[in-house]
Amino acid sequence: MADLDLIVRGGTVITPAELLRSDIGIAEGRIVALAPEIAQPGREVIDATGWHVFPGVIDAHVHFNEPGRTHWEGFRTGSAALAAGGATMFFDMPLNASPPTLDAASFDAKLQAAQAGSWLDFALWGGLAPQNLDRLEELRERGVIGFKAFMANSGIEDFPCVDDTALRRGMQRAASLQCIVAVHAESEAMTRKLAQERLAQELISIRDYLDSRPIAAELDAIRRAIQLAGETTCALHIVHVSCGEGVALVAEARDNGVDVTCETCPHYLFLTERDMERLGAVAKCAPPLRTAAAREELWRHLLAGHVTTIGSDHSPSPPEMKQPEPGSRANFFKLWGGIAGGQQTLELLLTTFPPPALPLLSRLTSGNVARRFRLPPRKGAIVVGADADLALVDLQRETLIRREDLLDRHRLSPYVGRTVKARVVRTVLRGRTVAVAGRIVSQPAGRLVKPSGT
Ligand code: ZN
Repeated sequence: MADLDLIVRGGTVITPAELLRSDIGIAEGRIVALAPEIAQPGREVIDATGWHVFPGVIDAHVHFNEPGRTHWEGFRTGSAALAAGGATMFFDMPLNASPPTLDAASFDAKLQAAQAGSWLDFALWGGLAPQNLDRLEELRERGVIGFKAFMANSGIEDFPCVDDTALRRGMQRAASLQCIVAVHAESEAMTRKLAQERLAQELISIRDYLDSRPIAAELDAIRRAIQLAGETTCALHIVHVSCGEGVALVAEARDNGVDVTCETCPHYLFLTERDMERLGAVAKCAPPLRTAAAREELWRHLLAGHVTTIGSDHSPSPPEMKQPEPGSRANFFKLWGGIAGGQQTLELLLTTFPPPALPLLSRLTSGNVARRFRLPPRKGAIVVGADADLALVDLQRETLIRREDLLDRHRLSPYVGRTVKARVVRTVLRGRTVAVAGRIVSQPAGRLVKPSGT
């Protein structure tokens, strides 16, 4: 029998169902053996004694902004940050690249940039906007993972939001193409009105911004999106749900037969509106951070299994976009909204997740993502036959999050200064080590992954 390329020895492996003390044998990038003690020799052996071995995080929600806004992030720096944090794959959103991914040509341009720069495997979202409803088919042919739409202003001029009529049409087309639609669910009418009322009175503080995007605006949009998904039989994924009530609406609709799931993000689980008031624009996002009570309610729904995926919504910008223009009074509404935190997803979650819930955690960050978006079966789980995409984690190692350890372009994270109780010690993509102890050790070799059936 030929030698294995790699053996990961002695770790506690998180499989879809349980924790398992097992060696992992790897050949040609795939897992070929899972056994308490693999006797076969390996060309490379990693001693994982005392470590936990998770399936690599699949982050279904990042904005790397390339091409066109590489100075905001870019595939090279963005994927390096994710790799250091235990991710092996990401789905890049159709904005804020310029041009946004709204047709085949913009898809091709982004694919080229991703192939040149990404350390990790990736999928690409297509956009669903009023101007590209006739382009969904060509995007599907290229292999998009799904279509993303905004129900409220996206903050980017070339990516307008959809009204219910355009969203219905887009969902009808997506359903006929058997593609999933993801929505940013906040009511444009409510948020616009609330913002205008405040701005008219020069109420421009962080508190005013928070008050302009209440939970009610989120729930209103979630309800309408669910209604349209039911009408059109389109698969729907609500991204970045910030509150338990939103998750509950989704769970109830799912029980009633609507094909709907939702995502939440680490910032809604680890930060509150007090952090936004304390940290300023580095913690600005939409929907905004919520109260501590709302955060508890979100955790309750998460641990009950009502949330399907956790994505980072890593959305950086140059630091100057987080600062008021010199000489002007700080108008919080005008500062760029987007939290850059993709490197910390797994370490943050492992700090709080109760140990018996580790299989649930790995489903949220990996297995459910692969299934919901119909990735090929080789992605999303540590099983024989799968790609050897692994995150090796030391759960005994307390780590202070320091700015100098961040690998994204601008290193502006709301988590700097926080201590996490876990450390990603190694990330392996298709059997090759990509990152060790927070440092990249390979070359960009990421590949496009298309959903099954395209
Ligand atoms: Zn986003």
